[in-house]
Amino acid sequence: MPESPPTPLSETHRVPRALAVAGLLIVAITMALTGLLVSSYRSTIEREETNLRNLAEAYAAQTHYAMLALDTRLARSIDSDSAAPDSVPQVALGAPDRAGRRTTITLVRSLPAADGGAARRVAIDTDVSYIQRIFASSDLGSGGSVTLLRRDGVMLVRSPTLPDAIGRSFLNTPLFQVHLPRMPAGAFEATSPTDGKRRLYGYGAVAGYPLVIITGRDKADTLAVWRGWLWVGVLAWLLLSSTLALLAWRIGREAERQAALIGRLKTSENRLTYLADFDPLTGLSNQNRLRRALGEATDAAAREGGQVVLVLVALERLHEVGDLLGHEAGDEAVREAAARLRRLAPEAMCPARVRTNEFGLLVRTAQAGEAVDGLAFELHARLSEPVRVREREFHLEPVIGVAAYPQDAGSVNELMRLADIAKHRARGDGGEPVHFHSDASHSHLDERLLVEEQLRRALERGEFSLVYQPKIAIASGYITGFEVLLRWHNPLLGQVSPARFIPIAEQTGLIVGIGNWVLRSACEQASAWRREYGFQPRVAVNLSIRQFYQKDLLDTIASALADAELAPDALALEITESIAMSRIDVVERLLAGIRALGVELAIDDFGTGYSSLAYLKRFPVQCLKVDRAFVHDLGRDDDSTAIVRAIVALGHGLKMRIVAEGVETEMQLALLRELGCDEAQGYLFARPVDAAAVPALLLTRDSQTPTSA
Ligand code: C2E
Ligand code: MG
Ligand code: MG
Repeated sequence: MPESPPTPLSETHRVPRALAVAGLLIVAITMALTGLLVSSYRSTIEREETNLRNLAEAYAAQTHYAMLALDTRLARSIDSDSAAPDSVPQVALGAPDRAGRRTTITLVRSLPAADGGAARRVAIDTDVSYIQRIFASSDLGSGGSVTLLRRDGVMLVRSPTLPDAIGRSFLNTPLFQVHLPRMPAGAFEATSPTDGKRRLYGYGAVAGYPLVIITGRDKADTLAVWRGWLWVGVLAWLLLSSTLALLAWRIGREAERQAALIGRLKTSENRLTYLADFDPLTGLSNQNRLRRALGEATDAAAREGGQVVLVLVALERLHEVGDLLGHEAGDEAVREAAARLRRLAPEAMCPARVRTNEFGLLVRTAQAGEAVDGLAFELHARLSEPVRVREREFHLEPVIGVAAYPQDAGSVNELMRLADIAKHRARGDGGEPVHFHSDASHSHLDERLLVEEQLRRALERGEFSLVYQPKIAIASGYITGFEVLLRWHNPLLGQVSPARFIPIAEQTGLIVGIGNWVLRSACEQASAWRREYGFQPRVAVNLSIRQFYQKDLLDTIASALADAELAPDALALEITESIAMSRIDVVERLLAGIRALGVELAIDDFGTGYSSLAYLKRFPVQCLKVDRAFVHDLGRDDDSTAIVRAIVALGHGLKMRIVAEGVETEMQLALLRELGCDEAQGYLFARPVDAAAVPALLLTRDSQTPTSA
């Protein structure tokens, strides 16, 4: 069997690949978006810090000028010419008003004594609400603030106002601890000491005064816009990733579908390739493959020497299984035969089923000889063993033809043809089921073709004649009837025996015309005897299988009887056992039809075929003719005696007469009498004789004709 169809790898791998690509894209998009958001976050913070710092510095400058203006007023108030006294200015909160609010801040300066006396302190107040108004002009959002602090951490002014914090020290905050000592202006992020919120701060020291401005803004407020972008980003990310994932899934599914489709397109392709070379029923090679193997083997033999032997086996009775039990049972039998063939023939022999009921194999050998002969006979033996199908046994009857390259044939075609002819020869050889092609059989073929050619014209040229052989009642010695036997004399071939020409007539179909002629002639002859001599012997005509399956068989018989004006019981028909046991249903119907005409039926050559007793019982047969092979061996061989005894018992059990064929000796006759046989036919009594000799025979032997006039 060929390997199972390969999986289309590239297609199934597209599924994870699509997913991987989508995954990578999603990761890339995630990274890009994250980068974008982080950088916009940073720049938002930085920008805001810069703004806050600038704002703080601007307020610091403004405060500086405001303080300078205050200083000027202070200087004027003390009548000094110098607008800017050089003592260190101090800033203090004004005293609380009645409501407890501190609405002023005071600029204080120490003036040196004019004449070496104690230093003088001068101060000037300014309204806090003025500074607050300036601070309030900047919109820093809901949590934003602008605060003026002293360098020692005390809060002086704040917008928006925060009365509780005014006057409190914020010296422990990062502004005073970390940032201001480092840089006079800057920005930073910290948690607000007043409300615990995270804020961004900018600060700027007021030049020349112990003051610092700090601007603050809620970080959350600052990031409001950015957070909007964050959501947009997240949404975009979700949208993109899910679209990509969906796309990947769709692509994957489509790829899977394609893969499945391609897998099916592939499977049937493999199936076709398989059918091109193999027999689906048995798994054996088919004729094609066998021919190819033969081609290769013969090529090799031509190059390297040696022989290629072709063995063809036909199972002659295989069809009976199907006829009887149906098509499937027939297939079972074929498979069983194939299995047997396979057990004997290894793969190297390319065991093949070449036709419905035919198998073949090839053997490469140095010299065709005993090894091949042994194989052919072994094969025959194996296939001859009965096959059991549905509790029944069947004999497939193998016939084998063998031919060799280059000994017999020069090409594969010729080898096939010659093995086929050899197989037909095996069929026709009668008893030799394995036939080896040889030059002798070649000339035999020529001869066969000659016989066939002559046979085609024999009827019209009147080359046939009939002879009659009496059957004798063993008990009385009376003649009970005559078997009608065909004779053929051909000017070219001389006298040809029925054993030689009947099989050819059967194979070519010529037997139908010839058989009709025999039937009509025999009926007319029997009728003539009654008219001329006043007695009516019963004539038994042999029917071939081809005639048996003619649709108009019953009409043919009836019209032969009518035309000859012969009573139906003056005619008997002999059919061989193998006809009787083939196509049982058809046979049963036909036999019943013949019996209904009033014609007697006999089974010829009984004991050589494979009878089923069950069927024998169903057939309306009056007579069993024991094959002459058993009669021949009577007294010499215990088996034959036992067989005849069994046939007699069986026939009598079924109310049939037993006729022994081929009785040649008194000893055989004595034994047959002892075994209870009813009638005998054979050279001991008379050879088949011309019609003209029949009256004399009847006179010398007392006849017991059924309807003697
Ligand atoms: P069969 O029907 O079994 O006929 C008996 C054969 O045994 C005849 O051979 C007959 O001559 C032969 N025979 C008779 N007595 C003896 C004997 O004592 N010893 C020996 N050794 N042989 C004896 P035949 O005439 O050569 O016919 C051979 C076969 O050819 C017949 O076998 C029958 O099957 C077939 N056949 C003959 N005539 C016809 C016919 O008209 N139609 C058909 N379809 N087949 C026929
Ligand atoms: Mg016969
Ligand atoms: Mg016979």
